[in-house]
Amino acid sequence: MPKYQHLFFDLDHTLWDFATNEQVTLKNLFQRYRLDKHFSDFKAFFAIYQVINSDLWLRYRNKLITKTQLNTGRFHQTFLTGGLNSETMAKNFAADFIRENALQTTLMPHTIEVLDYLKPRYHMHIITNGFVETQQLKLDESGLSPYFERLFVSEQVGAQKPRRAFFEYAIKSCNARKKESLVIGDSLDADIQGAKNFGLDHVYFNPAKIKHNETVHKEISSLRELMDLL
Ligand SMILES: [Mg+2]
Repeated sequence: MPKYQHLFFDLDHTLWDFATNEQVTLKNLFQRYRLDKHFSDFKAFFAIYQVINSDLWLRYRNKLITKTQLNTGRFHQTFLTGGLNSETMAKNFAADFIRENALQTTLMPHTIEVLDYLKPRYHMHIITNGFVETQQLKLDESGLSPYFERLFVSEQVGAQKPRRAFFEYAIKSCNARKKESLVIGDSLDADIQGAKNFGLDHVYFNPAKIKHNETVHKEISSLRELMDLL
């Protein structure tokens, strides 16, 4: 691979184990809010939440709903399926979820080992869709902060991945050249399509080895493979 100077890492599901952390947080809250009175078990609650959450994220991305509507709505709508109609409870639950989820610290396998290897060799930055306070807290709490020079969060940038504007802003802010920049992320839609939109080299991190028809520069299923590539 060409000699890169700048590595732009996605955060959720790439370095920070979103799936594990989210489930742990929601399970704690499920118990604290006594949701077992309304749902057969956590699994049932979580399955419904996942469907509603992805639907509302899509609507938020398309600017059909606000950040608050997303945050509260995903729980309010999930609660409704269990016959629980309380906007107040949904609000409190959402606030607890956002705060407590960002305090979770499980990382994807080999994250620290790989970042230790890369740190002296490259300038590293985070590119993430999400909310500033949440993403910053995740980096701080999980010990990732010291590895990264810049944090680019869509809320602050004013554009979401995969929009070209997001990538252009990040690259320019770092005074990086496009040819010397590499995007690493787990989302074909956000990270890889975004890198393509702005003409950047990219590594698709596909830990579940999901089948796809996209053309990608490099594909890895373990972060450790970055130590051979870079
Ligand atoms: Mg991701």
